[in-house]
Amino acid sequence: MIVTCVLCDKKAKLDANSYQGKRLINHPLATFMCDECKVRIAQKTEQRRREGKLRPRLYHKESDGWS
Ligand SMILES: [Zn+2]
Repeated sequence: MIVTCVLCDKKAKLDANSYQGKRLINHPLATFMCDECKVRIAQKTEQRRREGKLRPRLYHKESDGWS
C-alpha cells in the first residue's frame, strides 16, 4: 500500500501486513508520518522539553500514541 506523510506529503510504501499498515487500515483517523518528519519532530520536542517550555504532563500525554 502507498501512504502519504501527513506533514510533508511524501509518498511512501508501507507493508499492509505490518503493524503500522494494519493500524492505518483499521483506524481511519490514524495518520502516517515518514521517518524524516518523525526524527525532526522528536528533535524539536526534545529541544522544547530541555528549554522547559513543555509541561511534563502534556509531554507524556502526547507521547503516548507514538510508540
Ligand atoms: Zn514527512
